[in-house]
Amino acid sequence: MSEERREGGCLCGAVRYSLPWPPRWLVTCSCSNCQKQSGSALSVVGMIARDDLALTGELATYTDTADTGNAVFRRFCPRCGSPVLTDTDQAREQGIIFFKAGTLDVTRDLEPATHMWTKSAQGWVAFPGHHEQLLEQ
Ligand SMILES: [Zn+2]
Ligand SMILES: [Zn+2]
Repeated sequence: MSEERREGGCLCGAVRYSLPWPPRWLVTCSCSNCQKQSGSALSVVGMIARDDLALTGELATYTDTADTGNAVFRRFCPRCGSPVLTDTDQAREQGIIFFKAGTLDVTRDLEPATHMWTKSAQGWVAFPGHHEQLLEQ
C-alpha cells in the first residue's frame, strides 16, 4: 500500500471516504443542476476507479436527469446534505465513479484540468487558461 490516498467526508462527518490520489480526472462543472445541488457556483468533480473508493456511512440518492436523458444518481449525506458522490449507469459499466472534490479534507492544491458547462457559469467566475465547453447545449 505505497499508493497515496486522500481522505474526505461530508460536513457533519457521518460519511467519510478515502480514494487514490491524484484522481484520474478532475474538472469543474457549472451546469445549472450542479449549481442547484451545491448551492454554489460550480461543482469540482473528480473521477476514480470505483473499486478504489473506501466509504463509510450512509448516503441518500437523488436521481437527477442529464441532458442526454440518462439518470444521474446524486448521492449525499442525509444528515447534513453534503453532496459526496455522483454515479451513472455508464460509470458503473466503465468501473468508475465521480466524487465531489469540495468534500476532500485538503482542497488547496486542486487543479481542475477542464471546465465543463461554462456557458451556464455564473458571470463573475473567471476560468484560468483556455477551457472547454463540454456537454454544451
Ligand atoms: Zn453529513
Ligand atoms: Zn454539473
